Amino acid sequence: MAHSLGQASDTGGVSATTGISVSFEFFPPKSEDAEVALWDTVCRLAPLQPAFVSVTYGAGGSTRERTHATVTRIARETALTPAAHLTCVDATRSEVDDVARQYWEAGIRHLVALRGDPPENTTSYSPAAGGYKYASDLVSGLRKVADFEISVAAYPEVHPDAPSRAFDLDYLKRKIDAGATRAITQFFFDNSVFLRFRDAVAAAGIDAPLVPGIMPVTNFNGIRGFAERCGTSIPAWLADAFEGLDDDPDGRRRVAEKVAGDQCLELMKHGVDEFHFYTLNRAQLTVAICRQLGISEDKVPLAVDLEAAR
Ligand SMILES: Cc1cc2nc3c(=O)[nH]c(=O)nc-3n(C[C@H](O)[C@H](O)[C@H](O)COP(=O)(O)OP(=O)(O)OC[C@H]3O[C@@H](n4cnc5c(N)ncnc54)[C@H](O)[C@@H]3O)c2cc1C
Repeated sequence: MAHSLGQASDTGGVSATTGISVSFEFFPPKSEDAEVALWDTVCRLAPLQPAFVSVTYGAGGSTRERTHATVTRIARETALTPAAHLTCVDATRSEVDDVARQYWEAGIRHLVALRGDPPENTTSYSPAAGGYKYASDLVSGLRKVADFEISVAAYPEVHPDAPSRAFDLDYLKRKIDAGATRAITQFFFDNSVFLRFRDAVAAAGIDAPLVPGIMPVTNFNGIRGFAERCGTSIPAWLADAFEGLDDDPDGRRRVAEKVAGDQCLELMKHGVDEFHFYTLNRAQLTVAICRQLGISEDKVPLAVDLEAAR
């Protein structure tokens, strides 16, 4: 298997031409076909030289093995820097610590530490007996396991379980104070919400980078319910942009590219220089959006041998 897939960026994942750094999020594939599709996506996105690529951990910890397999494959077979999501759900502290230790032994140095969503068919979260209760506890625990780089989640529109905006901000601060080095936001569509949140984060004395999570949307109807569960508001202009496109996938893709591209370009005008893309394991949209930011495969010297990498 070729080990030349993707090149370690000598600029720490920051594009030398644009000064912009991007990272990509994947979910672990459920079938062999999905694995081939994901690997295709990884191959297509690798030349964009992301600062890191992360792999999610299924609700309720349901993908423990698949997440591990995907992350370690990326580490083994590419020059990309993988980050493994890890949650507190349904596991004791020592089980979670063991998973982290296995990652460390496999050479994984970056974790995304999360409380996690409850298992499917469960409406509310309750901590496992003997488990980490919140992401801040998890960050403290992981710090004791090894010297990981740790990213955590942040919520520009407030986490749905949080008692108030102020509490939510305080809990974010606890995660950073516990040793996290980066906060990646839940997806949002209204940039003013993010910019106000960024101000509040700075005013709270949180100085870790706050990286906007960008969700390119092609399936507007699908994202509506998901956004509601996450507490993400859908602006009227977004609904209008997808109006009448239910049976027009090309039209929806063009709108998706424009909406997410414009969102990033506007954030760049406000000094944002790092973006985390929820790729949904598809490359095309993310490639198109990165091009709008001046990051494209042809600007980096790389020969990807897709066949060899499969
Ligand atoms: C970038 C990103 C990646 C994600 N990846 C995954 C994934 O791979 N797998 C997955 O299952 N989910 C994932 N999620 C979703 C995440 O797990 C859920 O949003 C979850 O409900 C909260 O996780 P958290 O780490 O933000 O929790 P926490 O930071 O622990 O916060 C959870 C809630 O508890 C409150 N809280 C925190 N600390 C305390 C405290 N000490 N006392 C009282 N209340 C407190 C917070 O205000 C918040 O309401 C991701 C989310 C983001 C933004």
